[in-house]
Amino acid sequence: MVDLKRQYEKIKPEVDAAIQNVLDSTAFIGGPDVSAFSRELADYNGVRHVIPCANGTDALQIALMALGLQPGDEVITPSFTYIATVEVVALLRLTPVFVDVDADTYTMNIESLKKAITKKTKAIIPVHLYGQAADMEPILALAAEHGIAVIEDNAQAIGGDYTFSDGTKKKTGSMGVVGTTSFFPSKNLGCYGDGGAMFTNDDALAEKLRMIANHGQNVRYYHEMVGCNSRLDAIQAAILRIKLRHLDEYCDARRKVADHYDQAFSGHASLTTPYRAPYSRHVFHQYTLQLSGVNRDKLIGLLAEKGIPSMLYYPVPSHKQNMFKSLGGGAFRLPVTDELQERVLSLPIHTEFTKEELDYISTNFLEALEASRI
Ligand SMILES: *Cc1c(COP(=O)(O)O)cnc(C)c1O
Repeated sequence: MVDLKRQYEKIKPEVDAAIQNVLDSTAFIGGPDVSAFSRELADYNGVRHVIPCANGTDALQIALMALGLQPGDEVITPSFTYIATVEVVALLRLTPVFVDVDADTYTMNIESLKKAITKKTKAIIPVHLYGQAADMEPILALAAEHGIAVIEDNAQAIGGDYTFSDGTKKKTGSMGVVGTTSFFPSKNLGCYGDGGAMFTNDDALAEKLRMIANHGQNVRYYHEMVGCNSRLDAIQAAILRIKLRHLDEYCDARRKVADHYDQAFSGHASLTTPYRAPYSRHVFHQYTLQLSGVNRDKLIGLLAEKGIPSMLYYPVPSHKQNMFKSLGGGAFRLPVTDELQERVLSLPIHTEFTKEELDYISTNFLEALEASRI
């Protein structure tokens, strides 16, 4: 699905030198690369603070902890997302409230959100799924009206942006009270291990996020609150500083792959190509098609025979996962989510494709599709 090797080879001298530099310094935790990366990412994303942490799941958890939510408080999230978004809600004994997504954008449906808001709602977590910004303007307006915090799960859309109706553009992850992201290797800005970060413009909240990620301490060995241990290590930060300089180019490369697929597949009766919402600069973490009248399992098998990987993101929506059985996941009626889960298929997308490879994939995909019609 991704080609990290070719990407690494292009930046190998810079990356190897940066890693060597950390090895020579023996400052493996914290240090100049971690603080420089945090500053550089804050500048890139147009926020006052970036607080690095160990992974994107921790980022979500720490964000919820810093907001001081209490057991039983309701947190609204889409079910159609990676499990991390909702798992942390349950882990903190908060109540996940699942809402449906739009069939075209794959992001939080505004009507479904409106209906889900109650007096107990304390946070909304929109997910910029597959690299497309959720429709933030109405989400932020509803949240403001009801005094609810918005945490953006930006793990899949770093580098993307959102345009408000007055023409203002903001980076994904910079609009909520906290934005979170992941540097998992296959993400749009990936490191060579695990990593994550939180974004905020709120000085007091930044301080709190930083403390929670560091055992609740500000002064060493004086612990003000219960926190956790969640750090981005120096080697990862050094790698990320280099990759951040290429992020816009990586996003453009992904968009070019999407353009190629769109051209090859547009107008096909069995396929819906990804919709690009006018308010979002889609950065195509995934290229996800909707199939109709196709035996998906057969199609996946035929593609595999041609050496073409394909994936279901995700085979089971969150509210139907066994982990939410006892938490009442089955009570949610999310028709769009359920239907999408049966129809989506993601094709390989990354920064290093040649035109020949893309032609090979699209030609063989269309042939396999013909052979999989029902
Ligand atoms: C990857 C991802 C996460 C979690 O990131 P990790 O670094 O793997 O913990 C959270 N939310 C979404 C939508 C993701 O895609």
